Amino acid sequence: MKLELTDVTHGFDGRPVLEAASLSVGHGEVVAIIGPSGAGKSTFLRLGSLFEPPDGGTVTFDGVDPWAQSDRGRLETRRRIGVVFQQASLFGTTVERNVDAGLRMRRDRRRRLADFVRRTGSQTPLVRRFVDTTGTDDRIERALSIVGLTDRRSSPVDSLSGGEAQRVAFARAIAYDPDLLVLDEPTSDLDPRNTAILEHAVDRASESGCSVLLATHDMHQARRVADRIGVLIDGQLIEVGPTARIFDAPADPRTARFVDGDLLYDVGDDDLAPVDTPSES
Ligand code: ADP
Ligand code: MG
Repeated sequence: MKLELTDVTHGFDGRPVLEAASLSVGHGEVVAIIGPSGAGKSTFLRLGSLFEPPDGGTVTFDGVDPWAQSDRGRLETRRRIGVVFQQASLFGTTVERNVDAGLRMRRDRRRRLADFVRRTGSQTPLVRRFVDTTGTDDRIERALSIVGLTDRRSSPVDSLSGGEAQRVAFARAIAYDPDLLVLDEPTSDLDPRNTAILEHAVDRASESGCSVLLATHDMHQARRVADRIGVLIDGQLIEVGPTARIFDAPADPRTARFVDGDLLYDVGDDDLAPVDTPSES
């Protein structure tokens, strides 16, 4: 799988939020977008996960422009992408049924295809691949084991901690072997242990050939998980490069400030309340 965003621009209500950003994510590659809050990371990821078309520029998934596809074709493409947001949004049922949610859609499609095969005797390799359903049960078990939650399989999700809920959301996203995972600050509300479990799960996914596009404001996380990093500041992807190079030899002084921990919050003087200096007298 290869995702390519080329010169994408995007705005809201006529206000530009992304300016001509270009980035690709190759097969099994982990690419992190780092930058301060409000830089445009989530907007960039929404374009990369095909939630909305860019105002300008192009997005291609394996060379195909999804926005030139039919709605149905685009839906098929989107099903190859697993998405996890900062806040897990789960259905009020069990862990298992949540992980199964993504699988169920695909199973219905396979069932229809299996009916078609029975009626017509069609046996092309593509049809065989679809009809051959690797047990859903095994997939759920495997996805839960990657996030360390097999023992919570039948638990209601409202009995989980925030970190566990986020791990369920991750399991749901990987259960059907997506070609691309898009993760928008997936650990920013989590403690170090849950964060470590999810970072390990990202490694596992990429080792099995899944590509990962991750947004984070935590440069330490980017350093731990990413092969390449794109630095997004104020709507501009100011540089993209291998992780070690971004940290050890940043080309742009703003990158150097960001990775040194000088968060470049975009706060104007007008937004700051005046500070009362205690008078000495
Ligand atoms: P980040 O994820 O880096 O914090 P976002 O992509 O969420 O940045 O936001 C970038 C800018 O776009 C911000 O100024 C934000 O207020 C604005 N923005 C994001 N989404 C919308 C929207 N749906 N409508 C209007 N403005 C938005
Ligand atoms: Mg965001």
